[in-house]
Parts: sequence; C-alpha cells; structure tokens
Amino acid sequence: MQIQKTINDKTIAEQESRNVEDRGGLWTPSRFGRCFRFQYWTRSKEEPTNPPDISALKRFKLGNLIHNWVQSQMDCEKEVEVKLEDLIGYADLVDEEYVADIKSVSDWAYKYISRPDCDIKAEKYPNWLQVGCYAVILKRPKTKLFFVNTKDIHKTCEFELETLSLVDDINKELSTLRDYWSAQKLPPAQPRCYGGKECNYCAYMDKCFALEGDKDA
Ligand code: SF4
Repeated sequence: MQIQKTINDKTIAEQESRNVEDRGGLWTPSRFGRCFRFQYWTRSKEEPTNPPDISALKRFKLGNLIHNWVQSQMDCEKEVEVKLEDLIGYADLVDEEYVADIKSVSDWAYKYISRPDCDIKAEKYPNWLQVGCYAVILKRPKTKLFFVNTKDIHKTCEFELETLSLVDDINKELSTLRDYWSAQKLPPAQPRCYGGKECNYCAYMDKCFALEGDKDA
C-alpha cells in the first residue's frame, strides 16, 4: 500500500500545483460547450468547491499518457499555442490541412460514438467547438477528433468536419461568454452537456447549489 499512497500523494500534489498555474484568467476552448456559469467562474479564478477526486485524477493521468503517445507517433506540429486577447488554448495536432484533438474515452463511450447512427457533431459538441476554434484561428479548413478507447488502445476512431460548418457555433459561444464578462454578470445555472448531468462533474457544484438554494429561500 506504500506505493499506492505515494502515487496518490504525488498525483494530488501535482494537481494542486497545476490548479495554480492553470488560472490564466482567460477563456479556454477546452471548456467551450459547458455551462456558461462554470466557464465564467473558471475565468474569474473562483476557488473550486468540488475538485476532482483521486479516481478522476488518475483517469486524467491515463488520458495524458494516451495523448502523449498519440502525439509522439505523429509527424506534424503539436501543442500549438492558440491565443486571442481573451482566450488561450493548445491544439494537439496541426498540419497544413487540419487541426485535430485527441480524446480518451471509456469503453462505453467508445461503443456509443462508434455506432453507425451516431450524430457525432451533436454527441461531441463541446469537443467540436474546441477544435473548431483552434482551426478558425489557425486558418485550417478541416477539423478532426481522434478517439482512443482507454480499455483497449488498439480501438480508435476519428471523425472530420469542415471548419466552416462550426464557425457560427463558435462565434455564438464566444459572443455569449464575452457579453456576460463585459457586463460582469454571472450566467444562469444552466448545465449544457454530459446528457444533463454536467452538475455532477462540476468543480463548483456546492457553491452553485448553495447560491440557487438561497435564491429559492
Ligand atoms: S453546478 Fe451545474 S449549473 Fe452550477 S455552474 Fe456547475 S454546471 Fe453550471
């Protein structure tokens, strides 16, 4: 158990130092498509009331390992900084034609998105907004999402959309965020993803629920 304790302690310590570094005070496309209130609080550097637990942190670790492995196999630009005055992100893979993002998914999610009748744009809408934003700024005509099944990394699938098909959605996302920010107005408590279960995974759940409870009082 000593090894497990050491891993746990180190994983938590790494996350804590990352939290401090991570708060650049800008919008991050990796959070596009999520609840606007969540995005607003993240940009405001609000202290999370519900940080990820050790199990989730280890899943992130596995995702990082897969991400690094895929990048190491590709002969193109990687981790390309994408920056605007109020936004920063890093594109996973960039070549002359496309920007691609690498996503690790559970076996269950992999099967779900691999089915022939899956509407991948709707199903992975936040991911498309993210990679589409990078492609718009980097002026690449195509976007790709590359999914790796964490249960069996031999199982992968990839999808492609024209960047143009995402422009309106990206503009709407950014203009909504900018409107709230310039007015310094807290967005409403409206989860937008994870099949209506976004609050369960939100770092501000306790704070938000307390605020909404107070409103009802
Ligand atoms: S708890 Fe739900 S409604 Fe509140 S900020 Fe988080 S995702 Fe949005």
